[in-house]
Amino acid sequence: MSSYAIVIHGGAGTILPAAMTTELEQSYKAALQEAMDAGFRCLTAGGTSIEAVKAAVMSLEDCILFNAGRGAVFAKDGSQEMDASIMDGSNRMAGAVAAVRNIRNPVELAYVVMTKSQHVMLNGKGAQEFAKIHGLKTEPDEYFYSEFRHQQWKQMQDTDAMALDHSVTIPATASSDDFAEGKPSFTKVSEDKKFGTVGAVALDQYGNIAAATSTGGMTNKQWGRVGDSPIIGAGTYANNMTCAISCTGHGEPFIRAVTAYDVSCLMEYKGLSLQEAMHIVVHDKLLKIDGEGGMIGVDAAGNTAMVFNSEGMYRGRRDSEGLNETLIYK
Ligand code: ASP
Repeated sequence: MSSYAIVIHGGAGTILPAAMTTELEQSYKAALQEAMDAGFRCLTAGGTSIEAVKAAVMSLEDCILFNAGRGAVFAKDGSQEMDASIMDGSNRMAGAVAAVRNIRNPVELAYVVMTKSQHVMLNGKGAQEFAKIHGLKTEPDEYFYSEFRHQQWKQMQDTDAMALDHSVTIPATASSDDFAEGKPSFTKVSEDKKFGTVGAVALDQYGNIAAATSTGGMTNKQWGRVGDSPIIGAGTYANNMTCAISCTGHGEPFIRAVTAYDVSCLMEYKGLSLQEAMHIVVHDKLLKIDGEGGMIGVDAAGNTAMVFNSEGMYRGRRDSEGLNETLIYK
């Protein structure tokens, strides 16, 4: 247990050592470390957990390796729409944005929604206009473009399939025939499984916890689709009494399972520890509804946990007791 700590993730999915080069692995770890350090520096300097998670997530949004901000995945119409949210466990204030385009740091916009509006969630054009009023940075489409994600989308563009950035979702209409080689609907996409949604949770020196999540969503999603990441209680939740949680994975099951809040409920009503509650939600409740993915968590006592039911999850944690690690596989 530690007096302050930060945990981050860069997405979960079919992330296998065989599909990774040493160089790429090093790039991921370096990017995770940089983001974690940005949040940790903030905590060391006496900053709040909400500032720390915002700093860490902004760093990951700026990195093209992850599916959030720069490097976000493409929707069915070729656009890049992003979702983000942030929540302060000390007062349960929250802010979120859904389906926004051209905003450099969606998590910063979520923060401004929390601190400068009377609302919790803004979407689409209204969110963008709000961003403009508050002077948030925007970028042209080219800034967000990444060749590998564009190709990932191109392979699925004419299908009804929708893929986690790092895995693949098989369409409901698929038959075993569809698995045949050369069928572009999802066979190829499963090779592109290394990039994902980002998130952070933190405990500060004042005993307050916070969570933030940011994503481009799922490749080939219907434009206008909103995933779990910006939904308070599904992809993100924070409450000093229980835990701060940030999720990653196939958003629809995560919404239906009210995933992040369920961890909090298991702690509050059943008295489970953070690790126990996260384990039940990820390895039992989510799996029963085909919910692939994982989550990171922290509680106000300084316990941290990183749990996933997929092959891997980009993740890291650092605390005031000297723990400092970045991990990818099981
Ligand atoms: N949860 C995100 C979504 O469904 C995707 C991800 O975590 O990679 O939008």
